[in-house]
Amino acid sequence: MIVVMRPDAGPEQVEAVEARVRELGYRTALTAGELQKIVAVRGDTAGDVRLDGLGDLQGVERVLRVQKAYKEASREFHPADTVVDVGGVEVGGPRVVMMVGPCAVESREQLLETADAVSAAGFPILRGGAFKPRTSPYSFQGLFIEGLRLLAEARERTGLKIVTEVMSEADVQVVADYADILQIGARTMHTFRLLERVAETGKPVLLKRGFHATIKEWLLAAEYILKIGNPNVILCERGIRSFDDEFSRNVLDLTAIQVVKRESHLPVIADPSHGTGVRDYVIPMGRAAIAAGADGLIIESHPNPAEALSDGPQSIPAAEIGQLADEVAAVTAAVGRTM
Ligand code: PEP
Ligand code: MN
Repeated sequence: MIVVMRPDAGPEQVEAVEARVRELGYRTALTAGELQKIVAVRGDTAGDVRLDGLGDLQGVERVLRVQKAYKEASREFHPADTVVDVGGVEVGGPRVVMMVGPCAVESREQLLETADAVSAAGFPILRGGAFKPRTSPYSFQGLFIEGLRLLAEARERTGLKIVTEVMSEADVQVVADYADILQIGARTMHTFRLLERVAETGKPVLLKRGFHATIKEWLLAAEYILKIGNPNVILCERGIRSFDDEFSRNVLDLTAIQVVKRESHLPVIADPSHGTGVRDYVIPMGRAAIAAGADGLIIESHPNPAEALSDGPQSIPAAEIGQLADEVAAVTAAVGRTM
């Protein structure tokens, strides 16, 4: 439910509405638009007729029930764009935020060499998996806590922020102790208890779209995090599975970026590495995603992709990160954004 204030409503009238909402047992979120303020009522408001009385308070223009299934994720609930603050790096604002690094943290040398290249390119965030969701149990599963320690060392050395995946509820605390952004992978987008535990950390969450998920299911997964009271959700389009995997691993759904921008206030980035699965397509599709409105890109890179323990064929050589920066910067400027 949202309470739309009249354009001439004063701050004391807005405060009175917020106070009444809290008195009824709900949390509030205030959006200040250009003309009007909107008080969003957070929590399960369905069937609570007491809330209808909010319409009679001074300064209130109207009270609306949000019809969307993904209530808190919807634009109606929060008309302004959400900007997620990752320790000073803003995702969802004018800057196109680049998150680059290896698929998996494999060794100190591998990670630090990549981190140095990411930092030299002027990118703000380092990616790297310590807990890897692999299709085969015989594939490299990650360095676990040692991987997290190496990520922390890379952050210490470069000042880059860290995004890394958390796969299970059991690891949420330790991953949160190290990461600046907790990544939920495509395979666990539907693991609802994990979403709730991750939300409780209060940290920014990078929520990848499941390769099997509709846009609505993806937004409902975000809703699980928002409902707990953690507003720091960054969506990530990483490609969906289709009938044709002969030339590319997935179909990077660029329309989804525009749909999400319309339906939701949350920032959305794209992952052209998993979206295509093919190194040569990563930069072109990353550029296309920025042109389509993406707030950032997450891209895999490795000092020597031929020897990578996971996702080598879609990884950009670390030595080419500078070229990535140049090519992406041109499109970023063309759409009036910064890098
Ligand atoms: C990854 O980022 O390395 C990863 C496993 O991604 P996804 O969950 O999108 O497959
Ligand atoms: Mn990967």
